[in-house]
Amino acid sequence: MKAIYWLRTDLRILDNEALVECLKANHETIFVFPQTKSLKRAGTIRKKFVEDCFFSFKTELEERGFTVLRTDLFFGDFISTYFLSNPFDALYFTQEFAWEEREEERLVQQFCHENQIALHSFDQGTLIQQKDLPFKLEEMPFLFTDFRKKIESHLKIKPLVPTPFAYKENEGLSRLDHYLWKTHAIETYKETRNGMIRFDDSSKLSPWLNLGILSARTVFSELKRYETQVRENESTYWLFFELLWRDYLKFFSLKFGRKIFLPSGLRQGVSPNQNNPEIFHSWCEGKTSDAFINANMNELNSTGWMSNRGRQNVASYLIHDLGVNWTWGAGYFEEKLFDYDPDLNWGNWLYLSGRGSDPRARKFNTLTQAKTYDPEGEYQRLWS
Ligand code: FAD
Repeated sequence: MKAIYWLRTDLRILDNEALVECLKANHETIFVFPQTKSLKRAGTIRKKFVEDCFFSFKTELEERGFTVLRTDLFFGDFISTYFLSNPFDALYFTQEFAWEEREEERLVQQFCHENQIALHSFDQGTLIQQKDLPFKLEEMPFLFTDFRKKIESHLKIKPLVPTPFAYKENEGLSRLDHYLWKTHAIETYKETRNGMIRFDDSSKLSPWLNLGILSARTVFSELKRYETQVRENESTYWLFFELLWRDYLKFFSLKFGRKIFLPSGLRQGVSPNQNNPEIFHSWCEGKTSDAFINANMNELNSTGWMSNRGRQNVASYLIHDLGVNWTWGAGYFEEKLFDYDPDLNWGNWLYLSGRGSDPRARKFNTLTQAKTYDPEGEYQRLWS
């Protein structure tokens, strides 16, 4: 029996049920990492990051004798061509949440159905699996606080899936180890997480979580082990709290589909923001009249990274001060951020635009924010 494993945001050995089940079935398996629409829209820094991560995982699989292919075709186009000369019997993949990725799954499922290919899809991108939510997706609480309270009162998190074979520690696991066990930086997370300069101010787990190099369940399980063996405090809880935000936005995206990518969002009517390319470009290039905003955009353009505090401020500034179409800003982040994730990016932008779950527009006073989070102007000097 022959199988194809569609590599997506699950580039890991540990806690990867799709991989375990595929190997258990003893298929002759080929791993395929295809092009995606979102990767086509990515800039140089994000593309390189993804390629480097894929390359590390490919090497690890190849060392175990597996065949791994990289193709510039979208997965649907790849399998329909490949199948003609290399028919296969089964397909394994991890489900995504965002609309475009789900549409791609739909086409692939249709192809498999028409060609009697057995489909094995796995729900393993979040902390809590959809089947373990204490409500149906259609009845998911609209506001994060209600979602969190319900989840916390019926918390059910699947234990880690054991590895099919010994594995090397990847960069995601090393970062987790550093943040928890080596430096204990986790113990002050709640106080430092708004910092904009120091690497350990926040966990910096997002790049690894988003490509599935690290599963959210692995972070949770290490966090619990840390709380039991070392210390439990508000900061250790707060990292869990942020992982719940991540789950909330992923299920929100699954529930509302295409709407979260449209200027009107979940509200009726057209977005009040304007399509002004000149103003938009001044923001992209860090050439607005606000030095704090410019510093953040300079950091993003040079490194592909921006802190959460920075992201909130530049988004609010574009939407509420410059009055530009928020989807343009979200699209720019998609191109630049190397930790880009469709659900988290568009969900946060939508939320700040006031066209998401909370009708109140999230407007930040960027001058006050700069005084609070960069009182000595250190950050602004660094990225001026
Ligand atoms: P930590 O503070 O250490 O948090 C740990 C993890 O919790 C993060 O890695 C992330 O998975 C989750 N998390 C933290 N904050 C949020 C949040 N606000 N919403 C949902 N989950 C969260 N995050 C992305 O991963 N990819 C994106 O494309 C992205 N775009 C964003 C766009 C805007 C406008 C805003 C305001 C936020 C965006 N975020 C995005 C959320 C957040 O800024 C990043 O997850 C965080 O800065 C990553 O750094 P960290 O891993 O050190 O976070």
